[in-house]
Amino acid sequence: MKFSDILGHENVKERLRAMVDDDRLPHALLLQGPAGVGKFAMARALTQYIHCENRHNGDSCGHCPACIQQQSFNHIDTIFSFPVIKGKNREATSDDYITDWKDFLRENPYMDFSRWLAALGNANAQPVMYVEESAALIHKLNFTAHKARYKTVVMWLPERMNSECANKLLKLVEEPYADTVFIMVSNTPQDILPTIYSRTQRIEMKRLPDDTVASYLIDNMGVDPTDAMAVAHLSEGSLIEAMRQVSLGNQQRESLELFMRLMREAYKRDIRALRQWSVDVSALGREGEIAFLTYCERMVRENFIYNLHTQALNYLNRDEAGFSSKFARFITERNVVKLIDELDSAITDIAGNANAKMVLFDLAIKVIMLIKA
Ligand SMILES: [Zn+2]
Repeated sequence: MKFSDILGHENVKERLRAMVDDDRLPHALLLQGPAGVGKFAMARALTQYIHCENRHNGDSCGHCPACIQQQSFNHIDTIFSFPVIKGKNREATSDDYITDWKDFLRENPYMDFSRWLAALGNANAQPVMYVEESAALIHKLNFTAHKARYKTVVMWLPERMNSECANKLLKLVEEPYADTVFIMVSNTPQDILPTIYSRTQRIEMKRLPDDTVASYLIDNMGVDPTDAMAVAHLSEGSLIEAMRQVSLGNQQRESLELFMRLMREAYKRDIRALRQWSVDVSALGREGEIAFLTYCERMVRENFIYNLHTQALNYLNRDEAGFSSKFARFITERNVVKLIDELDSAITDIAGNANAKMVLFDLAIKVIMLIKA
């Protein structure tokens, strides 16, 4: 990760660069600010800049051995430390999860807490940094840097240290080894143990300006300029949130497309097209199929409401409303309950591992009968 890979925050980059260039890196640095603005990415870029053997133009080179090792998360003098979930009857440290962590970072250059929880397989967990984490860090830092001038510890969410962990770590932050730099990243610095917090040099990373986020979405995700500005504004300066909104929007468009195909081909009674439709939907995989069928249930309900002319209760987006203006009249008291029932049982069958193509094709045939005028 280079500074140039990070969106915005030019003033922060400038300050960090100067600290390294002028050889006045503090022992403990804290990047703080709202989630999703690129703090962890900045910590990675700084680490790479510190270790790069060929820094130029205010950035790491990206090609030297140190950069290559940083980019593959295998730099021997860079230690990652982050909150984990404790398994039964065992101590837990970052080391236990390091493989998952590296895989996760390869896919997600901007660290995202909820996705990390999903990667750990437990969306409701409350990860913690336990006392064993401090012990492991102290152990690792007792060896001097192998190759580099510094050992860098990149610590994600120090606010999740329990007090035992923080107290043990405190000594290390108070009387640091000469060649050690802690780079901490925090979303809620007010929750960090004050004794640790007060010993860090803080750098604030603010929410990204709307137009910065919008141009990223336009250039990198092909988003239409008007939509990009709206999404950027709703995301409150969080690039992660903006990207999540865009991909949700894309999913919704795909779902609408498939829903329209189902209804149009069912209306035309085109069996061949419906067979192809069931093949295409089954390519979404089990979770995707269930999400799509849940979307269909919502659309059936919304179209029924649309047909009742109760606009105030209607939650359709622009594209959906465009389709519904012609289609809604096919969803009436006569078939709405049956359609939802059929969708429900298709979801149950697919969740129970039935053959998705057959379930979907069977559903499509029932839709033919249910929507015939
Ligand atoms: Zn380099």
